[in-house]
Amino acid sequence: MDQNKEWLIEMRLKKAVEKLKSHEFEAIYVKTKEDAAKEIWKYIHPKQRIGVGGSHTIRELRILDQLEAKGYILYDHWKPGLSKEEVLEVRKSQMTSDLFLSSVNAVTLNGELVNIDFAGNRTNATTYGPGKVILVAGYNKIVEDVQEAIKRIKNVTAPLRARDLNMDVPCAKLGKCVDCNSPNRICRVVMIHERRPFLTDILIIMVGEELGY
Ligand code: SF4
Repeated sequence: MDQNKEWLIEMRLKKAVEKLKSHEFEAIYVKTKEDAAKEIWKYIHPKQRIGVGGSHTIRELRILDQLEAKGYILYDHWKPGLSKEEVLEVRKSQMTSDLFLSSVNAVTLNGELVNIDFAGNRTNATTYGPGKVILVAGYNKIVEDVQEAIKRIKNVTAPLRARDLNMDVPCAKLGKCVDCNSPNRICRVVMIHERRPFLTDILIIMVGEELGY
């Protein structure tokens, strides 16, 4: 990457990390996704039940296969072949997992987390329940403020996510949000973490690479 770009990205990520810390989150900056995976492994302990949010970022770290091969119980509702009932159970189990791994839709430079969710399992698991939550975010998730976060999520994240999941919603065709009333609307819950929820233990890993949507 161009050195100047790298410098700017690092500055912004470090600023977000400092702000997140001042809001009672644990937060760190790492350069690469491999570094992020190494950080996560520090929190993996024997016999943990690990919840996984619907997150491309986490999958890009390539640790889920390794966890499964080592015999960890993974609550991953994107696992192929699950029935509707199993998906529902897996989503519920994420909320009481020992460790919940996910990404976040946007991190503001003021140290807030912004997520827009479809079913609510991801947002729920980041407010109460799991023993520890680790959220990984690439530099592309950094925004100025909450307003920009919502705009970005609805006009960039949601259209890409909808296309990826083959969801029949207007933004998947138009490439922008039209605040639809589609029965498949994926934007149903907007959650802003202004500070760490009181009974949670959340680590946010900010990565100097583009990850997820
Ligand atoms: S409200 Fe509808 S059109 Fe807008 S981003 Fe969400 S799913 Fe897409």
